[in-house]
Amino acid sequence: MKYIESSKSGECLFCAKSRSRPGKKNLVLAVSEKCLVMLNAFPYNCGHLMVAPKRHVGSMSGLSRSEWSELAEYLSLSERILKKAYGAQGFNVGMNLGRCAGAGVLGHLHVHVVPRWSGDTNFMSTTAATEVLPDTLGSTYAKLRTAMEEVLSPSGGRTTKRRHGSKKA
Ligand SMILES: [Zn+2]
Repeated sequence: MKYIESSKSGECLFCAKSRSRPGKKNLVLAVSEKCLVMLNAFPYNCGHLMVAPKRHVGSMSGLSRSEWSELAEYLSLSERILKKAYGAQGFNVGMNLGRCAGAGVLGHLHVHVVPRWSGDTNFMSTTAATEVLPDTLGSTYAKLRTAMEEVLSPSGGRTTKRRHGSKKA
């Protein structure tokens, strides 16, 4: 809730983030034409990401095909960078739509990607009382940003439309 309140005078968090440039300060990792991927300021686990369409849409049926497509791209990217940066062994991926379902930001659909490791079941109980420090988030951001650049580079194993040079692994 603190996070939501911190956005400018009740403006929707994701709408505000959609217009900002990616950076450590606003926790936005990347913005594409129709979607964004960002860190959750109050993570369930280290590396907790959120993927959302830029458009203020509150339901799955409200998303266009191209929005779904970019959303899926960023979900896939999230998986890859969390594996690369943190060696994530599993993921909880999902969304809460509507107040009664526990949505933190009402009216703007977003997908949570929470990395998991075997044996991390006690994570919340051991850290629930611990304040998340800004520099911890900052270092998480830096780590994921680096992983993203590596994953998205031509040698990162990603299929790109255009390959530059003839560099081979
Ligand atoms: Zn919005």
